[in-house]
Amino acid sequence: MADLFDLTSKNALITGGNNGIGLGMAEGLAAAGASVAIWGRNAERNATARDVIAAYGVDAYAFEVDVASEEEVVDAFAATVETLGHLDSVFANAGVGALATPFGAMTTDEWRRVFAVNMEGVFWTFREAVNHMQPRGAGSLVVTSSVSADMGFPRGEHYAATKAGVRALIQGLAVEYGRHGIRANAVSPGWVVTGMTESFIEGDQFEANVKPRIPAGRWGAPEDFAGIAVYLASDASRWHTGDTITIDGGYLQF
Ligand code: NAP
Repeated sequence: MADLFDLTSKNALITGGNNGIGLGMAEGLAAAGASVAIWGRNAERNATARDVIAAYGVDAYAFEVDVASEEEVVDAFAATVETLGHLDSVFANAGVGALATPFGAMTTDEWRRVFAVNMEGVFWTFREAVNHMQPRGAGSLVVTSSVSADMGFPRGEHYAATKAGVRALIQGLAVEYGRHGIRANAVSPGWVVTGMTESFIEGDQFEANVKPRIPAGRWGAPEDFAGIAVYLASDASRWHTGDTITIDGGYLQF
């Protein structure tokens, strides 16, 4: 059974892998033996995260990439494949949060800021990924969605729209590329303490209003995403595709 989850001969790319949920996923993959490449814009965070991942005794690489730039994604994808040899799984996890603007006051710039990273960044990353994976006849694509796609998300309609959009994207990819051995799934987190949420999640109002609605009784942590990353990168999930897997401590069920 343990072999099903063994990643020792596998290579993974995680965008936004220098912090938060992406780093939690990267650590899980490294603990299972995978070689891991991470992408992020911040060189210092990249270097620190690379060291954290390498401490598992695997090959770890960090690339400075802004996924909101098509050119940077194309170049970095080629450089990542050249460095690792090939990629078995690609996690499009990089994302930015909403500025909590009332919808009536939302500017086009704010709308596009979020779509550029959360939607177009995923498009370019997965386009390069399928063109790499199709000739190999194998690969796993994973995108980080959000429970904001399942419920009304006031002052973050653009953010929620991207998170619903990426689910539609992976469903199409699962159907289009299934015959080529490529699987595509989404992981949909609930409320997790990360760089994106740390400024408000543990504030009094949020603790009082939101935390009681989490049946598991606590906020999520990056390490809660290690297991699902290993599963989706491994042979254990070989017939699992086109799905959205919610990891939220039961929040959506309450
Ligand atoms: P985080 O700690 O802020 O991590 C975000 C990551 O994305 C960082 O590594 C960041 O690195 C990277 N990133 C942001 N913009 C980028 C860009 N333009 N190009 C390349 N990398 C970029 O936040 P997180 O909560 O872990 O977010 C990870 C994913 O989870 C996001 O897609 C987010 O929407 C989703 N999510 C989070 C929650 C939550 O409660 N935290 C819930 C549902 C879904 P750099 O800043 O160095 O570029």
